[in-house]
Amino acid sequence: MNTFLSDAQLALQEQFLKFVAEQISPIARELDSEKISAKEALSRLSKGGYLGMTVPKEYGGQGHSAVELVLFVEALAAASAGLGLALASHYSVIELIVKYGTETQKSRYLSHLASGELIGAQAFGEEMAGSDFKAVQTTARLENSDVVLTGEKTWVVNGDLAGLFAVLAKDGENLGIYLVDSAPSATVVVGANKAKLGLRSAGTCDLTFNNHKISAENYLGVRVSGAEVEKQVDAVFNLSKTIVAAAAVGIADETLKFSAERALMREQFGHSISKFQGIQWKLADHSVETEAARLLTYRAAWSHADEPGEFRKYAAMAKMFAAKVARFHSGEAVQIFGMLGASTELPVERLFRDGKLTEVFEGTSEIQKVILKEELGV
Ligand SMILES: Cc1cc2nc3c(=O)[nH]c(=O)nc-3n(C[C@H](O)[C@H](O)[C@H](O)COP(=O)(O)OP(=O)(O)OC[C@H]3O[C@@H](n4cnc5c(N)ncnc54)[C@H](O)[C@@H]3O)c2cc1C
Repeated sequence: MNTFLSDAQLALQEQFLKFVAEQISPIARELDSEKISAKEALSRLSKGGYLGMTVPKEYGGQGHSAVELVLFVEALAAASAGLGLALASHYSVIELIVKYGTETQKSRYLSHLASGELIGAQAFGEEMAGSDFKAVQTTARLENSDVVLTGEKTWVVNGDLAGLFAVLAKDGENLGIYLVDSAPSATVVVGANKAKLGLRSAGTCDLTFNNHKISAENYLGVRVSGAEVEKQVDAVFNLSKTIVAAAAVGIADETLKFSAERALMREQFGHSISKFQGIQWKLADHSVETEAARLLTYRAAWSHADEPGEFRKYAAMAKMFAAKVARFHSGEAVQIFGMLGASTELPVERLFRDGKLTEVFEGTSEIQKVILKEELGV
């Protein structure tokens, strides 16, 4: 008996694995080398119904829970972790609108996000506001019934594809989140996709607002105080970091399979290298830490609906731990593969590059520790 997942969730997991094996694994290498675009991959996800998993059914989504979403991301990220990053961005916009949007915003955007007609992107970070998001310098100036956005956002995942940006900006001293659904223009300039270490199947772009006018109705939800906006930002990160934790588990699980296979197959000194205790211990540690990361990630996802007061804590724990496991054990996989671990012909080096980056975005590992000490009341 599986204590954690229901029979229905286990059946869905089978369906997710089958979809990924048929639709994503065959193009994973081309996605990483950018010979196939994220647009093509997201269109496959949209046809499979995987862009509206947590959108309520009345708005055209599947009405799944965060647990089912992380099961999907875990399966997806084993093939292409960058797509897990793209989903973290897309679903964090969905989360904001479901939780805090007005009825008009829900009706205007959710069904289009669920169908993939609109891809969501979270545009919070700036050159001078990384971990310290409150330091954003983008301004949102009220002008009659309009808001004028001015400033530069950086490293925006899905920036080149998105039809809806959640933008963090300041109106005087007040932080607020604004929903921007404008196409690129002279006042919304989308930069080129940045070359990066890993997670290359997701685009990351700079975004510049040059006195860009939007309706004041595009303020997320109703106007709230600074502390309330911080809760909204937390809501974005709690879900997106649980998604990243699931992607890290996918990376850890996939590298474990590759390492075990290679250890059995490779012979040195007259034996399969799996006979050496030094290799056996790496695999044993890899298996236990991957499983621990998985359980922590499912625990975080479960608390999203069932224990919301604990979600912030478990999301931080899951992100920090799973990312560390993905980074460390994908490095050990490269070690077990030896020279082949360095080859771009095999997926191990890509999983290693992707694994490292899970420690950086959606809040670095150090920032998760800051959150955890706050949760301890220290
Ligand atoms: C692949 C990728 C995708 C991204 N996608 C997006 C996106 O879609 N939208 C978006 O808005 N942003 C995105 N980002 C930006 C991301 O959110 C930031 O990189 C992240 O928040 C860290 O900020 P920073 O890079 O400015 O590092 P900094 O904040 O400058 O931190 C540098 C170092 O100092 C440490 N540090 C900072 N503060 C503390 C502290 N209080 N205690 C201890 N250590 C600390 C950090 O942990 C880090 O190791 C992305 C980044 C990457 C790499």
